[in-house]
Amino acid sequence: MIEFDPGSETDHPMLDRAVIDALFPADLPEPEHWEQQYPPRPLPDGAQVTRFGPSPTGFVHIGGIYVATIDRDIATHTDGVYLVRVEDTDQSREVEGALDQFARAFDHFHIIPDEDDERGAYGPYRQSARERIYLSYVRRLLHQGKAYLCFATKDELADITARQQATKLPTGYYGRWAIWRDADPADVTTKLAEGAPYVVRLRAPDDAVGKRVQFTDAIRGKLEHDANRNDAVILKSSDQSPRLPTYHFAHAVDDHLMRVNLVIRGDEWISSVPLHQQLFDALGFEPPTYAHIAPLMKQIAGGKRKLSKRKDPEASVDFYIHAGYPAEAVLYYLRGLAN
Ligand code: GLU
Repeated sequence: MIEFDPGSETDHPMLDRAVIDALFPADLPEPEHWEQQYPPRPLPDGAQVTRFGPSPTGFVHIGGIYVATIDRDIATHTDGVYLVRVEDTDQSREVEGALDQFARAFDHFHIIPDEDDERGAYGPYRQSARERIYLSYVRRLLHQGKAYLCFATKDELADITARQQATKLPTGYYGRWAIWRDADPADVTTKLAEGAPYVVRLRAPDDAVGKRVQFTDAIRGKLEHDANRNDAVILKSSDQSPRLPTYHFAHAVDDHLMRVNLVIRGDEWISSVPLHQQLFDALGFEPPTYAHIAPLMKQIAGGKRKLSKRKDPEASVDFYIHAGYPAEAVLYYLRGLAN
């Protein structure tokens, strides 16, 4: 059962190809199928393909209108494309009616995408409908030894964190703490035979610990961070259906296949860029340009803070609609902030 694939770039123990293939639908296409279905876009030089990725968790924040309006404007000004992709991989947090609420908000502000689930050749534009696409790429990474199955239970993970904290080590699933990273393939097949649930993790590069990485943000310029050391989960637990990826993996696959070249998103994602760089690299994709936007702030006595969806009624898009603020006036104000 233990096999070293001469084609792979790692010298880690490899699962038998047949064992991997048995985990996926027999008719699952190879990634090349999707690459052909969603070819590079025939667009003029300099055209920016932007996207907005709302999660249907029940509340349209004015910050969403802010980012979407920037996405729309940049695509329009560069003869590019602006698309909306519903990011519903966290189905436990999904709220019914949230999508209608989004549609109403974007209609109200006339922020109309060129592509969404109603129109566009790069769909489906809803992540829960893209299961097969993600699975093709997960299987490829498993074949290459760039990802692996992890059967660690909640209790085991909690125990790892507790021991790391006790010795003041960075917490996470990495290196020698990553108990399934270099597991004996025989142990993996035993677990599979028992029907134990597993997730799939990306194997962070062996040299990640202690390494620094750089990237250029379109707004902030050169940024430097510790390289990602964690073997991040890319595919959620096998006991769920549909079998969905994590945000990170969906970001890489979707923005690549939708041929997005400018990712405009909130700056809470900056710390994830080192992981995203590893994902694009492992998948062989060219990374997009990132533009990380600062959150909308509220002035308060003695300072300012992030506009809060719990504390501030004006964080909600419905506030502006119900109070009768003209959509153009709100957009004008938001564009001023963006400048
Ligand atoms: N669905 C993500 C969010 O709601 C979008 C992040 C992104 O634009 O990549 O935060």
